Amino acid sequence: MSESFEVSRRALLGGAVAFTAATLAPGVVLYARSSDEPATGAVRWGLLIDVNQCKGDCNACVEACNTEFGLVSHGRPDTDPQWVRKVTVTDPETGVSQSFPVMCQHCAHPPCADVCPTGASFRRADGIVLINRHICVGCRYCEMACPYKARNFVHENVTDQKPYAPRGKGTSEACTMCVHRIDEGRIPACVEACAASGRAAMLFGDLNDPNSDIAKRVAAVNSAQIRADLRTDPGVRYQGL
Ligand code: SF4
Repeated sequence: MSESFEVSRRALLGGAVAFTAATLAPGVVLYARSSDEPATGAVRWGLLIDVNQCKGDCNACVEACNTEFGLVSHGRPDTDPQWVRKVTVTDPETGVSQSFPVMCQHCAHPPCADVCPTGASFRRADGIVLINRHICVGCRYCEMACPYKARNFVHENVTDQKPYAPRGKGTSEACTMCVHRIDEGRIPACVEACAASGRAAMLFGDLNDPNSDIAKRVAAVNSAQIRADLRTDPGVRYQGL
């Protein structure tokens, strides 16, 4: 179910090319925090992905996400749900290719939320962008507005529902940064799987905390936000891109 995209590195980082790419049980509350503490703007959760540590033939992060959220193939790759996908970019001058995961970038200024007519798409105070599928009407405006092709539409009846992340046919969905795990003090499934694979290409943490590992690394190395020129200010950054 892995999907690979070939895009030029220049287009990815800031060129003219953007990424080209319900029914829920009554009373089910999506993304309820397990903690009594409300999300706070003092925190900004983010990811730093070291592209040099990511191998093209590794899909550990993709598979972990699919398992965590019960995303299964319906045999139609164009519409299969996939919240993390591996992208390959090639430098036309050197011919060198790089492969790395792309998911919702958890933008500080999310176009998906700007265009949502019902308020279903929203950014939590701690930077995690989510969809309230109780009020998502499936208009798919967010999918068109997202420059990162991060949103999926649920075309099929869903199976293997997870109680911490119910899904619904006829709604849009995307990476939640594993908010259900974060609220329990755990790391996202993709980050955990990447570390278990021995590559440790993904680092998760609080970008606002200068003492966090992620903030220290962001301060110490060159990193980039994809399509930074769009000024969405993604919470996902890439090292070595
Ligand atoms: Fe919204 Fe797309 Fe940005 Fe995620 S990457 S916050 S879906 S605009």
